[in-house]
Amino acid sequence: MKSEPIKYPCFFCDAKCQMEAGVYELRRLGNYGVSVCTICYEGSWDGIAPVYQDKLIAFLKENGKKVPERNEKGWLPRECKVENA
Ligand SMILES: [Zn+2]
Repeated sequence: MKSEPIKYPCFFCDAKCQMEAGVYELRRLGNYGVSVCTICYEGSWDGIAPVYQDKLIAFLKENGKKVPERNEKGWLPRECKVENA
């Protein structure tokens, strides 16, 4: 009997992602220290969607990080420096 692969949730949408046996569905979100599914990652190319922004900001605050500057859309950039607060 084959065992079920271990799945990890996407930080944003909670989709369960496989992270073994050559299948790596989660991606590191810039320097934020969280991992998200490919769909959320690709969807964040021009910034973190406002629907997920609060969750990310809460995570940064919990971990003693500064909230990065917003981009021209007023969204948090996907690729940026995340500094300690
Ligand atoms: Zn996701």
